[in-house]
Amino acid sequence: MTLSNGRHYLAIPGPSVIPDRVLNAMHRAAPNIYAGELVDMMPGIVTDLKAIARTRHHCAIYIANGHGAWEAAVANVFSRGDKALVLATGRFAHGWSDVARKMGVDCEIIDYGKRAAIDMAHFAAALAADTDHRIKAVMAVQVDTSTSVRNDVAALRATLDAAGHPAILMIDCIACLACDDFRMDDWGVDVMVAACQKGLMVPPGLGFVFFNDRADAVRETADLASHYWDWRPRAEAQELWQFFDGTAPTHHLYGLRAALDMIAEEGLDNVHARHATLARAIWAAFETWNSAGPLELNITDPALRSHAVTALRIGAPHGDRLREWTIANAGVTLGIGLGMVDLDDRGASGFFRVGHMGHVNAHMVLGVLGSIDAGLKSLGIPHGKGALEAASAVCAAAAPSG
Ligand SMILES: *Cc1c(COP(=O)(O)O)cnc(C)c1O
Repeated sequence: MTLSNGRHYLAIPGPSVIPDRVLNAMHRAAPNIYAGELVDMMPGIVTDLKAIARTRHHCAIYIANGHGAWEAAVANVFSRGDKALVLATGRFAHGWSDVARKMGVDCEIIDYGKRAAIDMAHFAAALAADTDHRIKAVMAVQVDTSTSVRNDVAALRATLDAAGHPAILMIDCIACLACDDFRMDDWGVDVMVAACQKGLMVPPGLGFVFFNDRADAVRETADLASHYWDWRPRAEAQELWQFFDGTAPTHHLYGLRAALDMIAEEGLDNVHARHATLARAIWAAFETWNSAGPLELNITDPALRSHAVTALRIGAPHGDRLREWTIANAGVTLGIGLGMVDLDDRGASGFFRVGHMGHVNAHMVLGVLGSIDAGLKSLGIPHGKGALEAASAVCAAAAPSG
């Protein structure tokens, strides 16, 4: 007997759950790529992407995952030998920095650890020390998916402005776009990087780089801007379909069109509010379990937690044991711990993550939590009682009464 048959739930921080509506939109014959529906669809896709990023400026679309979008952003901003200041709050800032360094960018990393957000006073001191303004751009991740910390992007811009520093502000929103609030123009972000397989609910394969005119002026002299990664031709929505440098990602574009329709129909503010409420339900459960056991939220301050992903500490080997248990017995795949080191002598991890980005509702979140609760009981891992009640109370309080 197994309790895992039935619809499997991939509760990891990307790729996220793909809505049937997106899958169905992609299930079709190859379209005419020269004229008609596909070509006509492009301007609307770009308009809707910009609405989600809350920008009036430009959006370039690439056939790439997030790593490709990282490289695209770096290529259009830097010349070989330019300096970047990278503010790290987890594995992904280091990953972006590695990409830039291999392209010849001189990256200085400030690492704020795995359980804290960027410290603005410390960042201000680093800017003040850069008296000759060698730092061309500051690179940071809004939500680092490995730690689930959420950085205050508006405060990064305020700190740059207060220092009178001209650096371009580059933000990775791959984990959290359309989950956590983000306002590119209001927050003074010059370059923002995203991908389609997390909050945007499309199978991996499309990368996005949003950029403003300030960043495009820097592009004028960026000698790393190679033919494929050049963002300029890709920012022309009318012609974009011709500029994929080869074949357009036809079916991904149909899937993305459906996903953008779903977000528009729900309303971006409602999408954000749904993520916020479901995140609070998850935190309520984990805080209750933690009251009498080793299970701990990686980020203790709720104000610094993402609404898209939650990183947990449970002590080796329980992270891996719990993950194996929910796959085998509940049909739920939890995310692995990433960039965290707490392995037992057999290499089993003490970390795991729950992805709650995109096409996720109360029954899915309550199902994941119920599965974890059963796993804790079955494995004999000590835990506080009442976690599921606490989570369901959050959902109950948020739903309209009557
Ligand atoms: C997922 C993710 C990436 C990498 O995206 P890929 O599509 O896996 O290359 C980069 N940054 C963040 C914050 C992410 O969550």
